[in-house]
Amino acid sequence: MSTLSTEDYIALEDQYNAHNYWPLDVVITRAEGVWVWDVEGRKYLDCLSAYSALNQGHCHPRIVRAMVEQARRLALTSRAFRNDQLPLLAKELCELTGYEMMLPMNSGAEAVETALKAARKWGYTIKGVPDDRAEIIACTGNFHGRTLSIISFSSEERYRDGFGPFTPGFKLVPYGDADALERAITPNTVAFLFEPVQGEGGVVVPPEGYIRRVRALCTRHNVLMIADEIQTGLGRTGKLLACEHEGVRPDVVTLGKALSGGMYPVSAVLASREILGVFGPGDHGSTFGGNPLACAVAREALRVIVDERLCERAAELGEYLLARLRGIRSPYVALCRGRGLLVGIVLRPEAGGARRFCEALKERGVLAKDTHGTVIRLAPPLVITREELDWALERIEKVLTIGNRRGP
Ligand SMILES: *Cc1c(COP(=O)(O)O)cnc(C)c1O
Repeated sequence: MSTLSTEDYIALEDQYNAHNYWPLDVVITRAEGVWVWDVEGRKYLDCLSAYSALNQGHCHPRIVRAMVEQARRLALTSRAFRNDQLPLLAKELCELTGYEMMLPMNSGAEAVETALKAARKWGYTIKGVPDDRAEIIACTGNFHGRTLSIISFSSEERYRDGFGPFTPGFKLVPYGDADALERAITPNTVAFLFEPVQGEGGVVVPPEGYIRRVRALCTRHNVLMIADEIQTGLGRTGKLLACEHEGVRPDVVTLGKALSGGMYPVSAVLASREILGVFGPGDHGSTFGGNPLACAVAREALRVIVDERLCERAAELGEYLLARLRGIRSPYVALCRGRGLLVGIVLRPEAGGARRFCEALKERGVLAKDTHGTVIRLAPPLVITREELDWALERIEKVLTIGNRRGP
């Protein structure tokens, strides 16, 4: 048993750890499924799922077993040698998603960087763009990670402030506006990078038909369509990949987060042989990328998604959650939106920000995090039951309705 209190841990973290986050003041020490416990023994329902890395739930017994068994046998070889897990993950992930090849990395940002490098190299070697002239188009409100090149095309001042000079070669168009995308394409455009639903941007669902129009434009202009499915993929929105909602197959897909069920950092880029074939030995790599521990964990995490029908669960329960949220009469709520179990409660400006609602939810045993200041994101593990959702909804309704105009 721990002898330190919540306040002790917070004081230590504040003293010795950089303050690049502003977490809710709950110190979690263990978890199981959709539930977590803090160091005081209080229990909470996790409605964030580590930004959708925990689609399979915390400490899924099958994934834990795969991880422990693999850790005992072989954890790391580096790609200087081969291991007996990477080929199997590659085959299983490609068969599950219908892509020809994958390239494994660790974090989501690395998968995005890999996709951008592939797109540039494809532009020069296959499309015939003149050297160093490749352009990549992304969307306003995007979130693709925190590397220097990725924040170079962020529209969020906070992510960029103080970090220049930035990587050139990127352009922004408004999210959800296919006409703007078409106007921005030039003969040097190699790729369009977007999220099927903007998660960090505030759970923004694009207008119906947008993804199909993007597909058509990319095909017509010979531009790679890169879907960043790091948050939306692997069941979160009710399909294995969120682009399936419009029957679309992007040229390149990035996956991360739930690819390991939250057990370990594992990410991947999926594409055709033509596109990933631009990489030869020495062009790109990562010491930990494709390591046998990561691959064994990811293989089991993918099997859990299929065996437990997590896509179907997210679709059914997501519809239920959104309908119930829309039924709540609250002076603070402007609207509720989402797809599957990725849902945002958008607050009115006069509600005074989402943070204090998340604090109030925490006091009642529900962990959620504000995104973009004014949106409460709800994204519980996909293994949640309807009864557990009802338990959370009861508390969410209280927090959104009781008290005076100054709120909970
Ligand atoms: C979280 C996220 C990333 C970055 O993943 P990291 O593992 O934090 O580097 C990239 N794209 C999207 C859409 C994300 O949600």
